[in-house]
Amino acid sequence: KERTFIAVKPDGVQRGLISDIIARFERRGYKLVGMKLLVPSQALAREHYADLSSKPFFAGLVDYMTNGKAPVVGMVWEGPSVIKQGRIMLGATDPKAAGPGTIRGDYCLTIGRNICHGSDSAESAQKEISLWFGGKGEV
Ligand code: ATP
Repeated sequence: KERTFIAVKPDGVQRGLISDIIARFERRGYKLVGMKLLVPSQALAREHYADLSSKPFFAGLVDYMTNGKAPVVGMVWEGPSVIKQGRIMLGATDPKAAGPGTIRGDYCLTIGRNICHGSDSAESAQKEISLWFGGKGEV
C-alpha cells in the first residue's frame, strides 16, 4: 500500500489549519496511519531538507521549522496514488502559483510560509517516513 509523509509546518499550526488539512485527506478517502506533534530537532530538519543545504534560504528554513514558536504535525497517509495526489492537494510549492482548491492556493501567498509539506516521490516518502517515524512499530 502506498504511503506518503505530509506535514503541517509551524505557520499552518499557528494559523489553526491542522484540522482543515486532515479533513481534506480524510474526505478524499485516504487513511491516517501515523501522526505526531513535535518541535523537530535541528538535525531532523537539516536531514529532511538535505537536498536544499546549498540554498541561501536553508538556514532560515531550518530555524523556522525548529525554533519552537509553533510545532510541526507530521503525518503518514496511506492509499491509492497518495504521493502524487497529496502533492496535487497541497498545490504548487510557490503559493503564488498554487491553484484555488489546493491547500496552498486557498490559504497562503509566500513561499517561505507555505503551510505544508508532502513527499515528492516514492523514494523521498520512504526516507521521510523513516526519518520522522523512526521508532520500531511507530507506523
Ligand atoms: P515541500 O517539500 O515543502 O513540499 P517542494 O519539495 O515542492 O516543497 P522544495 O524546493 O524542496 O519544494 O522546497 C522545500 C521548502 O523550502 C518549500 O516548501 C519552502 O518552505 C522552502 N523554500 C523553497 N524555496 C524557497 C525560497 N526561495 N525562499 C524561502 N523558502 C523556500
